[in-house]
Amino acid sequence: MFKKVLIANRGDIAIRILRACKEMGISTVAVHSQADAKQMNVLLADESVCIGPAKSADSYLNIGAILSAAEITGADALHPGVGFLSENERFARMVETHGMKFIGPKPEHIAAMGDKIVAKQTMIKLGVPVVNGSDGSVSSIDEAKEIADKIGYPVLFKAASGGGGKGMKVANNEKEIEDAFNMAKSEGRSNFGDDTVYMERYLTHPRHIELQIIADNYGNVVCLGERDCSIQRNHQKLLEESPAVILSEKDRTKIYSTVCKAIKQLGYVGVGTLEFLYEDGIFSFMEMNTRLQVEHPVSEMVTGIDIVKEQIKIAAGEKLSFTQKDIKIHGHAIEMRINAEDPSTFVPSPGQVTELYFPGGNGIRIDSHIFRNCVVSPYYDSLIAKIIVHADTRESCIMKARRAMSELVIDGIKTTANLHASLLKNNDIVANNYDIHWLSENLGKI
Ligand code: ADP
Repeated sequence: MFKKVLIANRGDIAIRILRACKEMGISTVAVHSQADAKQMNVLLADESVCIGPAKSADSYLNIGAILSAAEITGADALHPGVGFLSENERFARMVETHGMKFIGPKPEHIAAMGDKIVAKQTMIKLGVPVVNGSDGSVSSIDEAKEIADKIGYPVLFKAASGGGGKGMKVANNEKEIEDAFNMAKSEGRSNFGDDTVYMERYLTHPRHIELQIIADNYGNVVCLGERDCSIQRNHQKLLEESPAVILSEKDRTKIYSTVCKAIKQLGYVGVGTLEFLYEDGIFSFMEMNTRLQVEHPVSEMVTGIDIVKEQIKIAAGEKLSFTQKDIKIHGHAIEMRINAEDPSTFVPSPGQVTELYFPGGNGIRIDSHIFRNCVVSPYYDSLIAKIIVHADTRESCIMKARRAMSELVIDGIKTTANLHASLLKNNDIVANNYDIHWLSENLGKI
């Protein structure tokens, strides 16, 4: 097993990884920007190294500084966390050429899945159903119109290198093609330095259902259940649950087996998430994330598996200690992402947390890096806490989540907590009657 792991990330996820390492008897190195010197992960780590100024490009994305920090502290493995460099093929390769183990998949799989066009083509070959769309990239407006006629309106243009909900534009008819095509291209260029776009049929009432998979170096692949992440704003997830109660047992078993077969054939190693749209009983693959996912705790709650510890063990060359048959889904879990944002405009609300009280009790888990009097920085993602609730059934989980939200106090900054409290009381949510577009359509009413 590794002796010392450098955690190349910040916030709640850095603490999540640090906790797993500590429980495994592994020393930890935190890296941080100048703005993050007083963050909780830095205080909790065995060692810490400042890797640059506040701007992510100069610190958390600064490969040279991170590798130097690993070298001077003698770390033998590096965990990239979520976001930042976690899906950067070049970084993964450089970590290994510097004699450390990258706690993540093989670089070639990061590269293949990072290009959404290649990812879809790969999945088609592996027998995974995908969203109907263009065969590859789309290079002109005329070509786009031809494809739209074939797949039918509405259509969605997507940036091949897109992520975080950026680079996506809908065209409802032929007249809207030109603008949507040009806008997706320019968002792709400005956000990801790549203006390659492709097209998909825009589904009007799907659920977002994703499968958590885990694979070792010996060809063992297990699906740790699915998550329903349909409560989204601007294509970004706000609330996630596991299991997805909309699925029949037959559909669930079938997709698990299709995906596990595909992942085994691909030779993928580590943890990963395959994201699907699910509409009218049909699964359509969208993309695969080759890293730990923000919402992994809901899967941990219902399976009892510590995904981060397993991820570390796999990187250290251990075999999975369980098979698909061992995975039993216990009860229901819901995660609420609390963001430091104005709940009506969603504009970030950085500043000092003047008062803080987190809910507790049986079945409540808090993954967070904030503490009383800490300063929520304007430089990074606005996620400040994940409140995860576990209970026997979806109904009792919602009741417990409502109770948890009634106890939560975060003062000094604006947060999305009240929006979550309202969602948990909404009839459509309680009745499991919504799709990925529901929140945008209902925001003004809840
Ligand atoms: P990102 O990498 O930016 O997260 P995804 O491909 O995962 O991009 O899509 C993000 C979200 O956008 C999905 O969860 C879904 O809500 C919406 N979306 C993506 N593709 C489609 C589609 N073909 N039809 C309808 N909605 C879509």
